[in-house]
Amino acid sequence: MKQQTQEVTPLSGMESLTELYKVGSGPSSSHTIGPERACLLAARIYPQADAYRVILYGSLAKTGRGHGTDTIIKKTLAPLPCDITFDCETKSLPHPNTMDLYAMKDGRALGQLRIMSVGGGRIQVLGEAEHKPVILYEHKTFNDIRAYCEEHGLRLWQFAERFEGPDFWEYMREMWDAMKHSIKQGLADDGILPGGLNVQKKANFLYHRRSLGESSETRENRLVCSYAFAVSEQNAAGEKIVTAPTCGAAGVLPAVLYYEQHKNGFEDEEVVRALASGGIIGNVIKTNASISGAECGCQAEIGTACAMAAAALGELFQLNLDKIEYAAEIAIEHHLGLTCDPVCGLVQIPCIERNAVAAMRAINAVTLSDFLCETRKVSFDKVVQAMKETGRDMSTLYKETSEGGLATVGVHHHHR
Ligand code: SF4
Repeated sequence: MKQQTQEVTPLSGMESLTELYKVGSGPSSSHTIGPERACLLAARIYPQADAYRVILYGSLAKTGRGHGTDTIIKKTLAPLPCDITFDCETKSLPHPNTMDLYAMKDGRALGQLRIMSVGGGRIQVLGEAEHKPVILYEHKTFNDIRAYCEEHGLRLWQFAERFEGPDFWEYMREMWDAMKHSIKQGLADDGILPGGLNVQKKANFLYHRRSLGESSETRENRLVCSYAFAVSEQNAAGEKIVTAPTCGAAGVLPAVLYYEQHKNGFEDEEVVRALASGGIIGNVIKTNASISGAECGCQAEIGTACAMAAAALGELFQLNLDKIEYAAEIAIEHHLGLTCDPVCGLVQIPCIERNAVAAMRAINAVTLSDFLCETRKVSFDKVVQAMKETGRDMSTLYKETSEGGLATVGVHHHHR
């Protein structure tokens, strides 16, 4: 029987920046941040539980081990014991990322939650009303935003301030603190990343490897890269990061902001504002194209992170709106067509190094924009549109399936 469907015009506009920046355990918003939040919710609902049983289905069962879904679940529910089953057989699921959580007491189930990890770290409990993020901004494109800012004499962070809630700045400060924390943790860490690729953590090495007579350019590259590696390695190791805009691309924005803060002595307050301005750019891309590697390839993740970082830097340096737009446009334009084909499905090769390269590119994009802004020919909105179309036409082999490109060339084992 054909169902009568009512035409509903979807609310148009952008969600809060608090939906873009989120703290959680890497390396995947749907495979680790979502399940982590599911466990936190279960722990809140069943404080009297003494153990848990968790069953992972669909994609959570298939790629959960590689992403460390089980490790995150155990860590979040600790010290309570947790028995985890990977069920790859069950087909009729409400969502590809479904999990069942049984809260136990004295060997008997107290209650059960069926939870779906619906993307971007958001979770949905089966049977409960769908929790849709609210549209805070009626503006959708950068052109809309620019027109509004020009009319009211606002910078991008002031624009965000107008539409976000009263707790916004506190939330953003938490994000910046979490970013700094993951840089510091990452720099202090070394060893091998989990997953079997035998990838060595390199942030610490990069940070300390000052060579004699190092030029200031080399030093800048080395430090920026060490910060990007630090966050990306924390992400790959299942530690806490801030999505910016995703887990895989979480290293770009903190790397450039941390570097510039230390070099130029910017106050935290200024950096947090820059983070909001960069967030607006990320939100425009999320709303009009995509920030998901599975949907549009790496151009949507790293390309977006680079554009956000460029805009954030432009804000730090007090560039005008035209120059900020141009810096973001340069940053994403030169990521167009970038594929997502991580080796073995792990967010390590090429992802970690790619964060570092994008961080350097963001700095270059700002310099270029400052010099060449008057002659620019392409708007930011147009490039976002081009990114969406390129992503749509990109073969699925290059969209997080690890079935093509770099994922299939084999890893070179280098013996020292
Ligand atoms: S290659 Fe894929 S998984 Fe890695 S950072 Fe890019 S989009 Fe994310």
